[in-house]
Amino acid sequence: MQASSTVYASRIQRFRLPRICVAVVGDDAANILERAETLVRDNPFMEFRLDYLAQPVSALPKLKHFLDLHPEATVIATCRRVVNGGKFKGSASAQLDILIKAAATGFQLVDIELQSARVLKPGELTELKDRVGVILSFHDFKATKKLEETFAEMKRYPADFYKVVSTATTLYDNVQMMKFLQAHSTQHEMVGLCMGEQGIISRVLGVRAGSVFTFAAATRGEETGPGQVTASDLRDTYRIESVDAATQVYGVAGDPVAHSLSPIMMNAAFRRETVNAVYLALHAKTLKDLLACIPDIPLRGLSITMPYKQDVVERLSNSDPLTRQIGACNTVVRSQDGKLYGFNTDVAGVILPLEQRMDLQGARILLVGAGGVARAAAFGLKNKAAEVFIVNRTAEKGQALARQVKARYVKRADLAKMSFDVIINATPLGMGSNRQSPLEEKELNTKFLFDLVYVPAETKLTKMARGKNIQIIPGLEMFVQQGARQFEIWSGKPAPVAEMSYVITKALERLEPQPTEEEEPPAPKALPKTVEKPVTKPAAKPPAMPAGKKTAKPASRKTLKKAAKKPVKR
Ligand code: NAP
Repeated sequence: MQASSTVYASRIQRFRLPRICVAVVGDDAANILERAETLVRDNPFMEFRLDYLAQPVSALPKLKHFLDLHPEATVIATCRRVVNGGKFKGSASAQLDILIKAAATGFQLVDIELQSARVLKPGELTELKDRVGVILSFHDFKATKKLEETFAEMKRYPADFYKVVSTATTLYDNVQMMKFLQAHSTQHEMVGLCMGEQGIISRVLGVRAGSVFTFAAATRGEETGPGQVTASDLRDTYRIESVDAATQVYGVAGDPVAHSLSPIMMNAAFRRETVNAVYLALHAKTLKDLLACIPDIPLRGLSITMPYKQDVVERLSNSDPLTRQIGACNTVVRSQDGKLYGFNTDVAGVILPLEQRMDLQGARILLVGAGGVARAAAFGLKNKAAEVFIVNRTAEKGQALARQVKARYVKRADLAKMSFDVIINATPLGMGSNRQSPLEEKELNTKFLFDLVYVPAETKLTKMARGKNIQIIPGLEMFVQQGARQFEIWSGKPAPVAEMSYVITKALERLEPQPTEEEEPPAPKALPKTVEKPVTKPAAKPPAMPAGKKTAKPASRKTLKKAAKKPVKR
């Protein structure tokens, strides 16, 4: 006896479906079943990708066993054809045949593409819908365009859910997708999202725009679409289950931004302090694209990173004195009236970890680098009456900064003869897979080394410094402090610094292990030994630290890790 569509409709009402559907893939039925058994407890809503199987029909009896065993699970059968971005090489009729058999097996929903619907005989889709819940889908792997035209055609076919998936090539494409969902979700059961790295906004916020659910990967490496996020990231980092109309949206905007750890840290802070907010990585290829999204999403605040810290300043209605002084902004607040206000918390990120260890007045501090962060550090340190020295690969740039902040420019050749209270590495050397050091061992004459590079946690420079018993201030302290100040500006609450340090320490531990000694390249030739005339004559013999200027208890990375391991209510 055939079940009527109303029976199926009642089984798949939107309020019964979880917000996350996890895509399950495997080479054979055993593989899919093994993955499904592992996932089903936390993910009762799954999509089995039958097109990944060499013999989808012969796998169905085994999959039936799983469906019988797990009546609590809602499972979609998808057998996407190659021409529509899947792996099934058969015709639309062969696809239909598999989906009809999947319905008989016990799948509650099947996914069929608009392109297949177009070529099926009249009535065939209706027949399928009489047996099972149907998701009529459309995928655009290149762009987000013609959403309305596509949907106008889709509506002509019977379906329980209309799924429109496009590709975001700009951040604003997400806005287009969400407006589209809002326009149709009161009348139809809609599922919509944008693929690609830039589609993260729609993957997280699509559900509040009207998408009944969204798709997620089971784990990293098991993605079935570009930019797909794992179910645990959607649930734990972005808290998608609790995203609602009141959820405030924040993000880190830059180009590139994919590897930013800010979303992990800031979402943890919002969760810890029960702030109804979500924080996303926004890959803005232009500032114009980013600014266009702000009112429409709407975004309440932004962390600004490379390359927009300077350019964003002229778009602000007002800013704090530090931003004006430095000419760079890393924090934006959008007020209720839509105006943008700028702050610079990079300065606090550098100053606070130092002030926790010493009195900065009169402290001799060498900045290696003269880029954006060095500039923020130089202004911040001068404001604290520190004695600032600068060395840079491009002497002219270092000299210009030194002139501006009234610091001393130092020749690289003189470094080995000089000593400091703190050396700050404000170059990218040592970052990521770069295993170079901006300084040689003989040039490391300092009490503290503050390496602003924080990925990886241990660099060639910090390793060398440790060998000389120099106290290390890890770069992640800057990262946490600048983020903590942003959190406070946005939320008005004290930042949960311990929690933020904890999640970042854990995230860093999950990253690549350090290279072994043998893997390391020869000594770096990063900074030139012969540098142009210094702006001011550097002191040949540095004075000792002023009496009474004790350093506060230093927090090495080890100490910080220990602190981070202290019980944190989670
Ligand atoms: P930036 O504006 O691009 O400046 C980079 C500086 O490093 C410039 O002075 C540049 O010298 C120098 N440099 C680049 N490559 C070099 C090389 N191969 N050898 C010697 N010097 C080199 O970058 P930024 O925004 O200031 O950021 C600098 C670093 O700070 C980042 O790479 C990151 O690791 C770190 N950072 C850390 C945090 C944190 O929270 N811990 C936050 C932001 C940045 P030239 O003038 O000669 O080009």
